[in-house]
Amino acid sequence: MKYLIKIDKDSIRNNPNAGQTMTITEGPQRPIMFIYQGGPVPEFFDNEDVRIYSNTVRVNSRVVEITGYLYNHNMLNELIEATKGGTLQYSINENSQTLYHNPLPEYYFDYIPTQIICSNCKESFDYSELLSDSIDENYSNEICPKCNYWGCCEIEYEKLKESK
Ligand SMILES: [Zn+2]
Repeated sequence: MKYLIKIDKDSIRNNPNAGQTMTITEGPQRPIMFIYQGGPVPEFFDNEDVRIYSNTVRVNSRVVEITGYLYNHNMLNELIEATKGGTLQYSINENSQTLYHNPLPEYYFDYIPTQIICSNCKESFDYSELLSDSIDENYSNEICPKCNYWGCCEIEYEKLKESK
């Protein structure tokens, strides 16, 4: 059976980012790598916030070099404070990504909830519960969530222009 999923006209809203072709996303914070040279061993080093990965070389309790990662960015000021006795170098690796895409649409909208009946198991469910999957070259957006039958119905989504 073929279903037309209609646009909820009350849900149509302007997209403030209409026409944009790139989006900047913030990824998870990366640890700050640092190198500390030439001072005493700072006391709070090597805990869950600050991880040392290279060996500490001491000459008469003076540190020659420590390389490590600061996992908690909020601790940066403390790291700077604690390493005043030597030289600290660090680099912050911002983990933002720029995604390029087709111009974003002028409007956002929702579809009206619509009950679908599976042609295979005859169960009913909302269209939004339909599953998608691909195996090799084959792809379906109309997989029954109850019995997993591929192409359990035919769906057509109303286009915005038709609803105006
Ligand atoms: Zn089914």
